[in-house]
Amino acid sequence: MTERSHVKLLIVGSGPAGYTAAVYAARAMLEPMLIQGMQPGGQLTITTEVENWPGETEIQGPELMVKMEAHARAMGAEIVTDLVTRLDLGQRPFVAECDSGRRVTADAVILATGAQARWLGLPSEEKFKGFGVSACATCDGFFYRNREVVVIGGGNTAVEEALFLTRFASKVTLVHRRDSLRAEKILQNRLFAHPKVEVIWHSELAEVTGVDTPIGVTGAVLRDLRDGSTRQIKADGVFVAIGHAPASELVADQLELHNGGYVTVQPGSTRTSIPGVFAAGDLTDHIYRQAVTSAGMGCMAALDAEHFLAEAGDVQPAPTGLVAAIN
Ligand code: NAP
Repeated sequence: MTERSHVKLLIVGSGPAGYTAAVYAARAMLEPMLIQGMQPGGQLTITTEVENWPGETEIQGPELMVKMEAHARAMGAEIVTDLVTRLDLGQRPFVAECDSGRRVTADAVILATGAQARWLGLPSEEKFKGFGVSACATCDGFFYRNREVVVIGGGNTAVEEALFLTRFASKVTLVHRRDSLRAEKILQNRLFAHPKVEVIWHSELAEVTGVDTPIGVTGAVLRDLRDGSTRQIKADGVFVAIGHAPASELVADQLELHNGGYVTVQPGSTRTSIPGVFAAGDLTDHIYRQAVTSAGMGCMAALDAEHFLAEAGDVQPAPTGLVAAIN
């Protein structure tokens, strides 16, 4: 295919929302272009087993994303490995500029840039990032064979990361600020039953300690939130798993946002504050944040975009009554 500089529909992001939007839009003959971003496949590429994708009792996250990409390609979507660095939503056609120098204009845009790991913001966390402090156990866990690691957080991510790290580490200490986890019960049961795992409740990470040459982590200072007392524990690695923040930097000053950066959509739709711009997945959802709900929103975004383009006269109306059904 010759490189296109104008498309009817541009999809930004390659998680479940982006690929599902691409499948639906391609089948609606919108000839979508999907730009994958920095991490093709998104957050699921740095997880391991996925046990809640319908139809798959267990599938590896990266494998699921490879299948989704292949599905989108097979339906006719153009998948581009590039990073959108600037998006001008000021007027139609919208303009996307990419890291490679590529410039694409689009009649409609679906934003599906997802979310990225949050950090605590401690100076010592910043200092040792990449040298013993990580937000991705599946990326870095291998380096902690027979070592002791600490995981911060109490959600699904923290518990999954802790369980994954038991494959390598001699000891995994999960540190949580309250006295109960918000992770799914099935994961909690696995965690509590694991002989390598210790859970420290009511505590937060106060500081990561380590050495400068060669730079590396040696411990963690924990603060007990009940009385403010601190204690030092041994740690060769610290994994921060305290949730995710929406990747909305590209559009932060152009679209209405809520809850600290999530793109606002009109209730029951994926329509943002700019007509012709749609948002789906973790970028807009601060409540469910599941692969399957992201995929559902990707489908909605494609249908909303199809409707918008038909109304704008950019494409022929859908022949089947599908568009009428979502009016
Ligand atoms: P999350 O559910 O928002 O949990 C974040 C955890 O970090 C919470 O336990 C929270 O404590 C803690 N935390 C937040 N800020 C903190 C701070 N400053 N200091 C210390 N602790 C802090 O995030 P997540 O675990 O990344 O999950 C995100 C979403 O993805 C969720 O909807 C989750 O269900 C989903 N997910 C699903 C799966 C799966 O289905 N297998 C896997 C991974 C993620 P509190 O509990 O006190 O608020």
